[in-house]
Amino acid sequence: MPTRDIAVARTVAALREAVAAWRGRQERVGLVPTMGALHRGHLALVEAAHRQCQRVVASLFVNPKQFGPREDFTAYPRDEAADLAKFRQGGVDLVFAPTVAEMYPGGFATTVQVGGIGDALEGAHRPGHFDGVATVVSKLLLQCLPDAAYFGEKDYQQLLVVRRMARDLDIPVRIEGVPTVREPDGLALSSRNVYLSPEERQVAPSLYRVLNDTAAAIGAAPASIATNLDKGLAALRQAGFVPDYLELRDAADLSPMSALDHPARLLTAALLGRTRLIDNIPVMPR
Ligand code: AMP
Repeated sequence: MPTRDIAVARTVAALREAVAAWRGRQERVGLVPTMGALHRGHLALVEAAHRQCQRVVASLFVNPKQFGPREDFTAYPRDEAADLAKFRQGGVDLVFAPTVAEMYPGGFATTVQVGGIGDALEGAHRPGHFDGVATVVSKLLLQCLPDAAYFGEKDYQQLLVVRRMARDLDIPVRIEGVPTVREPDGLALSSRNVYLSPEERQVAPSLYRVLNDTAAAIGAAPASIATNLDKGLAALRQAGFVPDYLELRDAADLSPMSALDHPARLLTAALLGRTRLIDNIPVMPR
C-alpha cells in the first residue's frame, strides 16, 4: 500500500495488521486523528506522539457525521497527496485513510453520545457535532487500539469529550492533550483559516487578543467575571465578529464558574464573515 513512500491503510483490516505487528514487538503505538488539510498544529500532535511512542499512526478522514446540515462538509479543504507528503515528512509510520463506506457501512446505526461536557458551548451551537466526533473517535480508538491518542487543546471541549468517552467506555487508550499552535500574530492554526479573506485575516488575531485581555481583567478583578465577559463580547463585536459565546468554565469538566477559585478555561466561538473561529486559553486563580 505505499503511496510515495508512506504506507496508507484504506481498511480496518490493514490498519489492524500493521498495528498488531508492532505490538508483537512491544512497540508503543500513538494515534493522531485528523480530517486532513494539515498544518503545523496537526504536526505538533505527530511530534508529541513521537516523543512517547515508537510508532505513529495518523488518520485522515473527513467525518460526515460531525458536520451539521448547513455546515461545510462538501467544501471542507481536501488534498490527500499534500497531506500524505506532510505526514511522511513528520515521520508518520502509517496513514489510515478509510472511505466513508469503510467507516460507516450500510446499516450503520450506532451513535456515541457524551452527556454533560458535550452539551454546552460547541454542543449547544452545533447540535449533533459531538455525537459525530465521539462516534468516529471511539471507532478509530477501537480500530487501531493505540497506547495513546493525541488531540489538540485548540478544540478543548472536544479533548474533554473524548477523554470522558474513553473513560466511560473503558477504552484502554491514554488521551493526551497538546497545546495550541499559533501564527506569530496569535491566530490559532486551523484548516478553516483558508476561508478568511485578506481583510478578515487581519482581524482574526483579535479573537486571541480579546481572550487574553478578558483573562487578564478577570485575574485582576475575580469578583466581576460576568462584567468582564460582557466587555469581552463587546470587544469582539467592535472588532467585527459575531460571537456565539465567550465563557469561563471549569478546566476539568467545563461546568460554569461563579468564582475563579480553581483552574479555568476561557472559551470562545465567533463568526468572522462566514468563517466560524474557535479558541480558548487557560486561566489560573492567583
Ligand atoms: P481537525 O483536522 O481539525 O479535526 O484536527 C485534528 C486534530 O488537530 C484535533 O485534535 C485538533 O484539536 C488538532 N488541532 C487543530 N488545530 C490545532 C492547533 N492550532 N494546535 C494544536 N492542535 C490543533
